[in-house]
Amino acid sequence: MRKLLFFLLFINVFSLTAQDHCASDKENLREQHSDSEFDEGIQLLNALSAEFEFDQSSASVRDGFKEVTIPVVVHVLYREEENNISYEQIQSQIDVLNRDFNAENGDLDKIPEVFRALATSAQIRFRLADKDQYGNFTKGVTRTLTTVENIGTENLYHQSTRGGRDPWPQVHYMNVWVCELEGNTLGFAILPGSKMSERDGIVMSPRAFGTLGTAKEPYNLGRTFVHEVGHYLGLRHLWGSDDESCSSTDYISDTPTQLKENFGCKPFPTYSCLGQPNGDMFMNYMDYGNDSCMYLFTQRQVDLMHLVMKTNRSALFHSEGFTGIVAERNLSELKIYPNPSEGIFHVEFGEQTPSKIELVNMLGDVVYSYSPTSKIELINVPELPPGIYSLITPSQINQIVIR
Ligand SMILES: [Zn+2]
Repeated sequence: MRKLLFFLLFINVFSLTAQDHCASDKENLREQHSDSEFDEGIQLLNALSAEFEFDQSSASVRDGFKEVTIPVVVHVLYREEENNISYEQIQSQIDVLNRDFNAENGDLDKIPEVFRALATSAQIRFRLADKDQYGNFTKGVTRTLTTVENIGTENLYHQSTRGGRDPWPQVHYMNVWVCELEGNTLGFAILPGSKMSERDGIVMSPRAFGTLGTAKEPYNLGRTFVHEVGHYLGLRHLWGSDDESCSSTDYISDTPTQLKENFGCKPFPTYSCLGQPNGDMFMNYMDYGNDSCMYLFTQRQVDLMHLVMKTNRSALFHSEGFTGIVAERNLSELKIYPNPSEGIFHVEFGEQTPSKIELVNMLGDVVYSYSPTSKIELINVPELPPGIYSLITPSQINQIVIR
């Protein structure tokens, strides 16, 4: 859509809307204000996007795009056990992401006829990482007990020393923190400017992540995360900036101009700006509808994501964070608590007590080995130096941080 005012004069960074559904605009502005290099990188991203908007020939980006698999690490930060979400809930979200990004969702036929031909696959796949930056096998999930309330909003989620969890190298992994967010916020993503933020990644509330467990209606079908991954790959809200005018842009020429966000499930057609014969594309993932009423990315949105993948997120093409080996060996996630610990922690094996458990340091050395006799064991190794260790049984794996 066309934008008349290319640069907003000012937005109050800390203003809260009544329904602060996605905090991406607010959090990116906050980051732009605190980091001038990140701010410059966002200006460059805006310039790239504006050029893309008027250059229809860049559709060829799509034609030359080779399917990519992005390794994902999910950092669960919890104050209460309820928010220590299950591996199954995390996997349910990854499944939705793959389905929706590849136009394999069964509700494509609910797209109004006039928009249907625009829906397309992004040819981007996501898998939980199975190798960390040190080369250790992993299930792609870290779990951290924290005492910080609303840690996602407090902007401490990405710092291990302040109750959060340090990201894995952001050039090679899509980092996701699932943690408490204040008020009505469901999530946010840091935009892929040409200078990566130290906060780069996506932050999600447990109530809008996955399709099981803590996920709550109407955000329990995984679409909020699809929306946030759209931001992570450079997409903006359909209405452009939050100035409630029909002149701001999302840099996408095949989405109608839209005044502001649509909540819930709107009837088709719903109009907000003059000159848009079909009204708003409220069923697009980059609006704010209920999970059950969002079904598509358009061709130009996919083109822009491909352009961003090839520019500001190109290192993801070369990540070694997913090998397929853990899935092949059918290793499941080992339950460890507390994590991080001082070297004294419980390990829970589930149904079967394994013959052996090994603790492996970052150099690949086995530093502790033990034959468990019960389904829950207390491991007592306070003498080990602080660091990240892998805990491995013949059928399970996880990582523990020793402080
Ligand atoms: Zn958003």
